[in-house]
Amino acid sequence: MLRYAIVLALVGCPRPAPVEPAVAAPPPTPQDDVLAVTWVQTSAEADAVALTVFHAAGAALDLALGDPTWTAALEQEGAFGELPPAIVVDVDETVLDNSPYQVRNLLDGHGFDKASWGAWVDEGRALAVPGAPAFLSAAAEKGVDVFYVSNRDASQAEATRGNLAAQGFPDAEDTSHLLFRPAEGDRTKAARRRQIVQTHRIVLMFGDNLFDFVEGDKPDRAAREAMVAAHTDWWGARWFMLPNPMYGSWDDAVQGYAHPDAPTAHAARIEALDGSRP
Ligand SMILES: [Mg+2]
Repeated sequence: MLRYAIVLALVGCPRPAPVEPAVAAPPPTPQDDVLAVTWVQTSAEADAVALTVFHAAGAALDLALGDPTWTAALEQEGAFGELPPAIVVDVDETVLDNSPYQVRNLLDGHGFDKASWGAWVDEGRALAVPGAPAFLSAAAEKGVDVFYVSNRDASQAEATRGNLAAQGFPDAEDTSHLLFRPAEGDRTKAARRRQIVQTHRIVLMFGDNLFDFVEGDKPDRAAREAMVAAHTDWWGARWFMLPNPMYGSWDDAVQGYAHPDAPTAHAARIEALDGSRP
């Protein structure tokens, strides 16, 4: 038995084959948005905050309709008291939930691109943000026109109209209430609001992005905060913001509006954090 053990010890375990020097694997692409997409898609809290916004807007709408001097558009000037009322909503992440598109990008390991986004829009299967169809339908029944002012391409209006109609949104029988980004000319949302105020009094506005409310030319973070502060009294009264932690101009500002690759964007986000802030 002892001799057997010694023989085993001498033979030893088979030597491992020499390991080829490994080629350094590239670092994994940071998927910074995974937590945000998980929150939007799985949390009951995301539903609750959307319902909070649209329910609160109901009381604001009644105030707005009863006060002909009330407007929610910085572009509204002159004698507008007799004009029919309108609500302006953004589309993406304000009334339609595109988190499935974000999930696809996460799983495929790539970011936003026009081709995959266009395919998602053409599917027309986005679900409504909770509370949005009920609020806007109730507003429409009170005689309010709803305008969908979106930076989706104008060529995507018909696919979006079908999606909105299928989700029970008003003013989606044709594309006359969908003011999407034109291929040329003034492509700002302010330009489209200036169109609306010719014929309507804009009483409330909804968005998930600062630029859904006020125009800005690549403002940095401090300038963005100043833009919010300049209209403190309007938030929750005339302007209603939906949360979008998945993407937006808040992140563009962190990136200096540069749209870098994922590792560079990740580094910029880390750099932007401030652990000393009280
Ligand atoms: Mg949006």
